[in-house]
Amino acid sequence: MVQEQLLRRDIVDQRLLMVMSEVPRHLFVDDAMRGRAYGDHPLPIGAGQTISQPYVVASMTQALKLKGDEKVLEIGTGSGYQAAVLSRLCEQVYTVERINSLLAGARKTFDKLRYYNIRAKLDDGTLGWPENGPYDAIIVTAGGPEIPRPLVEQLSDNGRLIIPVGDQYVQELQLLEKNEGQVKITDLASVRFVDLVGEHGWNR
Ligand code: SAH
Repeated sequence: MVQEQLLRRDIVDQRLLMVMSEVPRHLFVDDAMRGRAYGDHPLPIGAGQTISQPYVVASMTQALKLKGDEKVLEIGTGSGYQAAVLSRLCEQVYTVERINSLLAGARKTFDKLRYYNIRAKLDDGTLGWPENGPYDAIIVTAGGPEIPRPLVEQLSDNGRLIIPVGDQYVQELQLLEKNEGQVKITDLASVRFVDLVGEHGWNR
């Protein structure tokens, strides 16, 4: 996976490459999917949701430029794989999921792997997790119509936020950087994610 899908593309962060060769991705998918866990594609994880393609996990993570001492917020825990990768690259991960069965599964896997620097809760992540903010980096792994304002507010100065923004079929991966209170947004790539559902996302 690392050789063929990441190194051959534009993943150059050495810590990230190391971490993605170590985190056991097959433990984040159902038994029936294990044989396909390291393939170059997303996979279903139940409840109509998906675990992102390894390359997408890598490129979103690389864009956060983590050094090791950060506090990171993830919206959309899903299988827990993205949070697991983040947890090996920063100090503390907070992750929010709106579907209880997925949250429960992810928590079990974190415990099994002894990834103790991840805290997860059930909630509408478009509201962020204000009690623990501000965050050095925020990653949203579901696509919404706009960047949720609470997340921008909970991002620390010099922080980076990455989120897919668009309609429900295709989104642009946007990187928001905050510097001395100024916000800069850069489009990185076209992507397709499941819906970000919530007060500052799609309503259902
Ligand atoms: N990062 C996950 C990807 C899961 S797919 C992984 O590595 O497996 C995106 C997830 O976002 C889904 O589980 C979905 O339920 C969740 N989600 C969608 N809207 C949300 C919201 N407002 N708050 C929290 N989670 C949300």
